[in-house]
Amino acid sequence: MKNLDSLLAFDAEHLWHPYAALKNTPARFLAKSAQGTRIETADGLNLIDAVSSWWCVAHGHNCPEITEAIRKQSEKLSHVMFGGFTHEPAIELGEKLVKFLPKGLNKIFYADSGSIAVECAAKMAVQYQYALGRPERCKLVALKGGYHGDTAGAMALSDPDGMHTLFRGIMPHHYFAERPNCRADEPWNDADFASMEAVVNEHEKEIAAVICEPVFQGGNGMWLYNAGYLKRLRKLCDEKGILLIFDEIAAGFYRTGPKWGMDHAKLENGESVLPDIMTIGKALTGGHITMAACVASEMVADTITNSKISAFMHGPTYMANPLACAAGIASLNLFESRDYAKNVARIESRLRANLEPLRNLENAADVRVLGAIGCLELKAIPTSEDILKVIRETGVWLRPFCNYVYTMPPLITSDAEIDQICEAIKLIGQCEPGPVSDDEFHE
Ligand SMILES: *Cc1c(COP(=O)(O)O)cnc(C)c1O
Repeated sequence: MKNLDSLLAFDAEHLWHPYAALKNTPARFLAKSAQGTRIETADGLNLIDAVSSWWCVAHGHNCPEITEAIRKQSEKLSHVMFGGFTHEPAIELGEKLVKFLPKGLNKIFYADSGSIAVECAAKMAVQYQYALGRPERCKLVALKGGYHGDTAGAMALSDPDGMHTLFRGIMPHHYFAERPNCRADEPWNDADFASMEAVVNEHEKEIAAVICEPVFQGGNGMWLYNAGYLKRLRKLCDEKGILLIFDEIAAGFYRTGPKWGMDHAKLENGESVLPDIMTIGKALTGGHITMAACVASEMVADTITNSKISAFMHGPTYMANPLACAAGIASLNLFESRDYAKNVARIESRLRANLEPLRNLENAADVRVLGAIGCLELKAIPTSEDILKVIRETGVWLRPFCNYVYTMPPLITSDAEIDQICEAIKLIGQCEPGPVSDDEFHE
């Protein structure tokens, strides 16, 4: 390997990183390899990946079943356009998804990233209303505090006062309801739904769909809210002929405990509240290769199919990439064969035991835990230098944003590793708060 300093110098000069300046950024780690919960760096660290590399590495890094599936597929067919062709990996993954997804959600559009899946969901909702002769219904309602991705259409559905405000000029305009405030562990308070009800009532005739992240708002606020909200939302959407979109990209695949975030919201017959369209991504391939999907109910798909413009008007170049499909199949096999619900319950109780006491830290604002998600919200975040120091000293990779120091570890993380992660979170919570900066989403 080349000299580490010269590699990092090239990187700083030429490679953009997510939400980061080119030069003058805090030091970066050079990842050499990764296995299970661990990432090995060029300077000899062996870090526990406490954020599952942005929440996707569910079964652990370099999972042998998944890497083998990708390798085998690469010897047969790495890519072919999905327009005019189909292939076995796409079909087999589709068959598995139809069984794995909530009943009735079985019309699958493969997308190459979560943001694209969200774009597709929004377009599908608009095309559905168009098919019903309601072209004026072309706006969505989203929740303040939400996050749905970084492309223009997805930014426009994310928190209007969040990290994307500078791009307002290129974003389509949608409507926003207040963030649900009723917490998961409180009794449902119906007043919490008033804002959504008011927004929908006021703009009803323009609204194609409501989109939300079921019970867990991730990328913008690490917020957990009461599942009663979803029940009210389903009812309201049904009354108004508005579609309901659940963005399960972060919450899905057992992250919050059950298989889907929506599974926290149970109807009287014991079934989960279902959306008309849902998006999945992140853990779909176990974090091995990019792949997401937008999935519609039969009602939505049939309405579009039976209309004058029967084709759904979207088609990425790398749609249904066979390598990604192969990884998805192997990942779903693991989700089917392993008892992740039980494992996540274990992780949840360990996170709770470790993180709840951190409420007493002087700098603590809140502690939130659900499934394999644990968040210490601070009054003020320490400096990046202090955070890096904790990472190096504890061997735990954390990536706080705004005032949130959180973990979303791989679903295979051991109790001892959870303890180590929580110790690192505590140490960050005990650091001197840094100066308040304009650059809230610091690297
Ligand atoms: C990460 C995320 C997205 C965007 O996915 P990308 O693959 O990063 O484009 C969309 N919605 C939610 C809820 C997410 O957490």
